[in-house]
Amino acid sequence: MTVSRPCDHCGMAVYPDDAFCPGCGESTTGTPPEQPRATRRSSRIQLALGTGAHAFLLSCARCGGEVLPGDRYCQSCGAAQPPS
Ligand SMILES: [Zn+2]
Ligand SMILES: [Zn+2]
Repeated sequence: MTVSRPCDHCGMAVYPDDAFCPGCGESTTGTPPEQPRATRRSSRIQLALGTGAHAFLLSCARCGGEVLPGDRYCQSCGAAQPPS
């Protein structure tokens, strides 16, 4: 089971495979992941799919990773997302 924890900076729930906090864009690991996260689906996205949010998935303009509505930053590359 994947367990989220609150971001040190903004308190938003982040998952172990989130490289960046989607709430404030801070790196959660201190180092970028070696494997681009766009190549696989993060725990955050998987959980969202379980709630039927797949119809609203966005994609990051920088890395192409999946971004949830309301996420202010891509959890894969940390790029700021345009307001949806
Ligand atoms: Zn944060
Ligand atoms: Zn990205």
